[in-house]
Amino acid sequence: MPSRVGPAPPPRTGTLHGVTDLPDPPDPRLPLRTRLASGVSRTAAALSRATGRGDGSVIGGRIGLLIDPDLLAHLAVGRQIALVSGTNGKTTTTRLTAAALGVLGPVATNSLGANMPSGHTSALARAGRTPYAVLEVDEHYLAQVLAATRPAVVALLNLSRDQLDRAMEVAMMAARWRAALAGHPAVHVVANADDPMVVWAAGAAGAVTWFSAGQRWHDDSWVCPQCGSAIIRDRDQWACSGCPLRRPRPDWVAADRAVVGPDRTRYEVKLALPGRVNLGNAATALAVAARFGAAPADAAGRLGEVSSVAGRYAQVERDGRLIRLLLAKNPASWLEAFDMAEPAPTLLAVNARGPDGLDTSWLFDVDFSPLAGRPVLITGDRAFDLAVRLQVNRLPFTHVTGFAAAVAAVPPGRLEVIANYTAFQDIRAELDRVL
Ligand SMILES: [Zn+2]
Repeated sequence: MPSRVGPAPPPRTGTLHGVTDLPDPPDPRLPLRTRLASGVSRTAAALSRATGRGDGSVIGGRIGLLIDPDLLAHLAVGRQIALVSGTNGKTTTTRLTAAALGVLGPVATNSLGANMPSGHTSALARAGRTPYAVLEVDEHYLAQVLAATRPAVVALLNLSRDQLDRAMEVAMMAARWRAALAGHPAVHVVANADDPMVVWAAGAAGAVTWFSAGQRWHDDSWVCPQCGSAIIRDRDQWACSGCPLRRPRPDWVAADRAVVGPDRTRYEVKLALPGRVNLGNAATALAVAARFGAAPADAAGRLGEVSSVAGRYAQVERDGRLIRLLLAKNPASWLEAFDMAEPAPTLLAVNARGPDGLDTSWLFDVDFSPLAGRPVLITGDRAFDLAVRLQVNRLPFTHVTGFAAAVAAVPPGRLEVIANYTAFQDIRAELDRVL
């Protein structure tokens, strides 16, 4: 009787262990060059992970694209795809949307925020064949990724100033989105009715579903992108004073612990993520999932599974302190972070290294007064820029040398941490070392 046990597999030792954990081979229906590129891309990503050089999604995708420049387009064929773009909230919304679409079948996604074409390529290659994909897209790359992946749905969240020393001006970005969408009239857009820049950009789309996620930050949308006149606001409503551009009536609305759908059905949402902004992200996720045919009640049940996004919102306990990490990258996201943070001692950490943008003048765009009444600690390479800003707001603060000093300086209980990009990474690394 033939043994069902084959020869023993080679021992999985050494640092290249991860390479043996590759998913299914590439789809045999793809062109040979694409299969080769896809396989090499996944191997390179696995090598990168196995040798401790990050998750490999960028290098794997880059190498694959060198072999087959159309690799992303080839890997997109046969999948129903949603793209998610905007200045803030795209990583979280991508995670929520992937969770919501999961009720229909397997979903490929770039969940770690590698949001340029190399990251998309790697995510699709790594996932193998899936009927669905949800891809976070850097706002500068939307036109390129739209053309390559031919998505069914594009979700547009918001546009605001970001990285003053290198990012594109907001109205210019809106114009680029508008031109990109005009070239793909079959794409269904799911867009934020509360952001005039997004509404104008989405106006070029063939069809739009509007959601309301609220907009706390208004300083990049006082002037109409269509005609240059002033935009007039009245609570949640807004309208241009010189042309017909105005807030469309939203189909999906974030409500109190729920999302209200187009037929006024209320879907209870039990999010593990804090703040009104994440309820808006949940509304976006349900609107996208519904476009693909997911039952919103089923999809809503999946949203509570997302508890932390690339370390953001993570809660950790250390020395009797319950610490929550919030990432804030630009003025709009600082305002949202103040909304999410509980009134507890709060550590603010600001750096100005490459990924943060070198210019910290944005600190003066943010109103720090919501922090009044709570103990505020500051740290980071640019803590003294922050100190000047807090002094202007007349907020008392304590400077600490780093995260560990902050933990030691506050009483047992909650500690909120709001940090910009590299400061956030530093604190995560420090927590990983200690825990
Ligand atoms: Zn106007």
